Amino acid sequence: MKVLVINCGSSSLKFQLIDSESEQCLAKGLCERIGLDGSMTYAPEGGEKVKKAIDMPDHTEAIRLVLEALTNPGTGVVKSLDEIGAVGHRVVHGGEKFAKSVVISEEVLAAVEECNDLAPLHNPANLIGINACKELMPDTPMVGVFDTAFHQTMPEEAYMYGLPYEYYQKYRIRRYGFHGTSHSYVSARAAEVLGRSYEELKIIVCHLGNGASVSAVKNGKCVDTSMGLTPLEGLIMGTRSGDIDPAIIEFIAHKEGRSIDDIMAVLNKKSGVLGLSGNLSSDFRDLEDGYNRGDAGAARAMKTYCYHVAKYIGAYTAAMNGVDVICFTAGIGENAPLVRNLVCGYLGYLGVELDQDANRKRGEDIVITTPGSRTAVMVIPTNEELAIARETVRLVG
Ligand code: AMP
Repeated sequence: MKVLVINCGSSSLKFQLIDSESEQCLAKGLCERIGLDGSMTYAPEGGEKVKKAIDMPDHTEAIRLVLEALTNPGTGVVKSLDEIGAVGHRVVHGGEKFAKSVVISEEVLAAVEECNDLAPLHNPANLIGINACKELMPDTPMVGVFDTAFHQTMPEEAYMYGLPYEYYQKYRIRRYGFHGTSHSYVSARAAEVLGRSYEELKIIVCHLGNGASVSAVKNGKCVDTSMGLTPLEGLIMGTRSGDIDPAIIEFIAHKEGRSIDDIMAVLNKKSGVLGLSGNLSSDFRDLEDGYNRGDAGAARAMKTYCYHVAKYIGAYTAAMNGVDVICFTAGIGENAPLVRNLVCGYLGYLGVELDQDANRKRGEDIVITTPGSRTAVMVIPTNEELAIARETVRLVG
């Protein structure tokens, strides 16, 4: 079956068409600045990637253009829309309602809408994408795959905050976690590559991208993760602060006479390694260059970032009473040997011995520790689109 995977943001839409039998991506692309001065990038497998400016007043028009590109007699990869057997939608927040992917129905849409409060920037955009697809492909089954679902197995002691319980009762304030599709895919893939049973392993996944989170996966189930009610908590990220003393918000607000909204924008957009480096960059390629030429800001950002990753690994080793495998994934986890080196520098107590040659490789599932290393460290490139396509086929195939 050919599955269209859609990841809809407020003004953007990423898509991939995946053949579920071969698990190959047939075409992918991105619509940007929907409702503004739009552009569309389209890349058929093995063909040329083309980007063109194109007006798209709304998401329905963006999806219409995507379907047109996929069926275009020149550059398309299917003859007609009938060849697309199902659509898999990434949905950011499923709250406590969705511990698994679901076939989208009117009831499901209403339940997702009830989670909008928890992800006001993301969920409404996801719903717009689903409705636009429904309009253009009314007879094609659709599945919602939630970023939060994999983490719903966390025990109460891991997901509760030390706040008055009434806030949980009234507003469902608790840890939810994000990047669940990636944590699930990477941990299962690590077990597969090692030829070990997923149900018998203690795995820590470090998803280090622009957004970053760590999860503890014990016997195939998530038992803790570093992002919380929102994706602001946890690790230091590109521009997000991660964990801070909550009193800092009031402190800066008083000192600078700024509103809470203002400070939240600083914590989301001007903090993380960007802020720590003195505005050098949020991109680890720049930070690695800076670190290597002795730039003090880059070194400060890099060392603080890696220290925090190592601290979470320690915490989750304690949470699982041990760890068998530590996985690095996403843009930084897959591509930055320096970050892996600095993080693993803290893991002598786990008997981690890095194989420096393996650590320099890119783009493959690989063990980067020596055969004698007591704990295995791996790089597993994440593939959230493939995971969404698999879930879609599992439910409607
Ligand atoms: P993601 O959110 O998973 O797409 O990750 C994006 C981030 O990965 C970028 O902002 C960079 O910080 C990082 N990244 C991508 N390529 C490299 C690379 N070759 N070396 C170091 N960092 C990289």
